[in-house]
Amino acid sequence: MDVSHLLDELNEAQREAVTAGSGHMLVLAGAGSGKTRVLVHRIAWLIQVEHVSPMGLMAVTFTNKAAGEMRGRVGKLLGIAPNGLWIGTFHGICHRLLRLHAREAGLPETFQILDSEDQYRLIRRLIRDMEFDEGEFPPRQVQGFINHHKDEGRRPDEIEVWDQGFQASQVEIYRHYQAACERTGLVDFAELLLRTVELLRDRPERLAHYRQRFGHLLIDEFQDTNTLQYALVRLLAGDDNRLFVVGDDDQSIYGWRGARVENVQHYARDFSPLVVRLEQNYRSTGTILEAANRVIDHNDDRMGKNLWTEGEPGEPIRVFAAYNAEDEADFIIGRIEDWIRAGRKPSEAAVLYRSNAQSRLFEQALLRADIPYRVYGGLRFFERAEVKDAMAYLRLVHNRDDDSAFERVVNVPARGIGQRTVAELRQAAGSRGLSLYQAAVALCAEDALAARARKAVGAFITLIDGLAGELTDAELGPAMDRIIQATDLIEHYRGREAPDRVEAREENLTELVRAAETFSQPFEDEQAGLSPLASFLAQAALEAGEHQAEHWQDCVQLMTLHSAKGLEFPLVFMAGMEEGLFPHSRSVEEPGRLAEERRLCYVGMTRAMELLYMSFAESRQLHGQTSFSRPSRFVGELPEHLTESIRPGLTTRPAGPTSPQPEDGLPPLGAQVRHPSFGDGTVVEREGQGANTRIQVHFEQAGPKWLIAGYAPLERLS
Ligand code: ATP
Ligand code: MG
Repeated sequence: MDVSHLLDELNEAQREAVTAGSGHMLVLAGAGSGKTRVLVHRIAWLIQVEHVSPMGLMAVTFTNKAAGEMRGRVGKLLGIAPNGLWIGTFHGICHRLLRLHAREAGLPETFQILDSEDQYRLIRRLIRDMEFDEGEFPPRQVQGFINHHKDEGRRPDEIEVWDQGFQASQVEIYRHYQAACERTGLVDFAELLLRTVELLRDRPERLAHYRQRFGHLLIDEFQDTNTLQYALVRLLAGDDNRLFVVGDDDQSIYGWRGARVENVQHYARDFSPLVVRLEQNYRSTGTILEAANRVIDHNDDRMGKNLWTEGEPGEPIRVFAAYNAEDEADFIIGRIEDWIRAGRKPSEAAVLYRSNAQSRLFEQALLRADIPYRVYGGLRFFERAEVKDAMAYLRLVHNRDDDSAFERVVNVPARGIGQRTVAELRQAAGSRGLSLYQAAVALCAEDALAARARKAVGAFITLIDGLAGELTDAELGPAMDRIIQATDLIEHYRGREAPDRVEAREENLTELVRAAETFSQPFEDEQAGLSPLASFLAQAALEAGEHQAEHWQDCVQLMTLHSAKGLEFPLVFMAGMEEGLFPHSRSVEEPGRLAEERRLCYVGMTRAMELLYMSFAESRQLHGQTSFSRPSRFVGELPEHLTESIRPGLTTRPAGPTSPQPEDGLPPLGAQVRHPSFGDGTVVEREGQGANTRIQVHFEQAGPKWLIAGYAPLERLS
């Protein structure tokens, strides 16, 4: 068989990795060097040349979107869909394993995934129920505490309690939380991993089965695996299994969420893999690559690598100083308009930012300019209130013991079940070890509720039971539609909100019905015996934030720097390059976290193929206040000869000391000046004309300031 197409478009080192014989493999290489490509080709190689069945391969990626792309690319190389091949995220794969072995894992068959928002609500409720002070035990912080321990594989009993006060109480909340999840069949994200690790650890026959089945385990973005994920890898890798791991220590950006870049070294130590380094970058221009390399050079403790390109040097990196965030957004959208006018596609442009909240201004500016866009990972479809309400009904109809779904919709729409009644249900559920739904049925039967409450609760039970009976064998789409109609959700919003909001919610619900109708169950899920409904619910919980793929093609892409990992775009904007925003204010005090922010900057820069813009605003509304900030230190780390600074109205480098100076009697560039409050400084930029001329002065003490030249009380020193 001719397999040259598997190797043709690879360089020597890439080929070595793809065709490696026995043993484990570690491909350690910088951004854009073809790691993901090598992994895809390796899968095709194993199937086509080594005749490994697709069923014998497990490939792990970082997002569901990446998994989808990988499946497509493997299919293209092979010429047929690789059915039976498990490609997914660690969470997705663990979910599938737990569905297959729910009982052995100690879970009900109908267990549901608890997403982080619902997890937060549950923890907050438990804190209240346990009569702790929410000020002393902020639910978000407790949530972090619980997830941190779970990510490290620790159950409440395994936490070393060194403080009988605060810490012991947090452990107590964790214990209650865990009990509540178990009572109601809820599994949070970390639990998906922990349960799977425990299942395989405690059931040797299961472990043996999967070791035999998955002869090859391939993992992308290995630098961001956490303790549990590495434990899972170690479990699955028996003597006859082969690991193929690719990663880049410089792109480890999830340390704050438990990722451990040391896993790369641990892997090298534990498995003695053959190490292949890829050094040629195929993605970015020479300028972008060199600048990114220079920025990341500021970090210590790197494994170190060489990265070069044969590509053109390309354009300099454009650095834009905006007056404020609105100005920044207008500038970026203007450049995107130029791009589209030049015949390029909107989807080739990406705006990257540090925190989700920054997307709003870009969204508004894009709307005004009538340019289609998508927020990736931000406005999460499955997290919108109306979608969650409808999904909660679907979950409840599917599993009546799903307490978090019960709580969400028991009084949505309002049906006269107040907080008091819900508290009574909780109380009964807690003391009798029942789910809320069971408690509701019991209290109604015992006539233990006030008459009005009993009637309302009874009606709710009838509604859910009725729907459950009616929809047993229904297709997903019609079932979703029926639920939305029967529960009067739209009327509920209509009664409370402005027409345009209601319309948006209605559209989202219509979209949800469409999502259910067009949901096609992954072949591997079906093979694993999952019902389409179970797959759909899991997808909704796992893929929240990734649900916009069908519109992916021709829209400008907005996303956080974190979600840009692994992707590439011809035109990239990194916005909000300001101290305090990026690097984030929480990180500047701690060297470890600062280094992680710098890696994030490296990730952002290396997404760019042709053109990279970085921008910062001198003032910005943050938390309802105007704040002034300095440009990010990362901008300062760019080598000057690779950048070009831009001010509004200027399309080329601002006048330097050698450029002609306007003869208007205002301080020229380079002039030394004194200001009564800011002290001495140098004029570094100027723009505008006549009375409106603005100059930027770099004050020795006070830093850079923009001033109206004609009005500022400046004394010229030179
Ligand atoms: P990241 O670290 O950002 O995840 P990566 O190392 O996974 O990057 P890829 O995304 O696999 O890199 O590849 C980067 C780009 O270079 C892709 O567009 C890919 O198609 C291209 N590429 C990789 N290897 C080659 C090659 N040998 N010839 C031509 N193009 C290549
Ligand atoms: Mg990659």
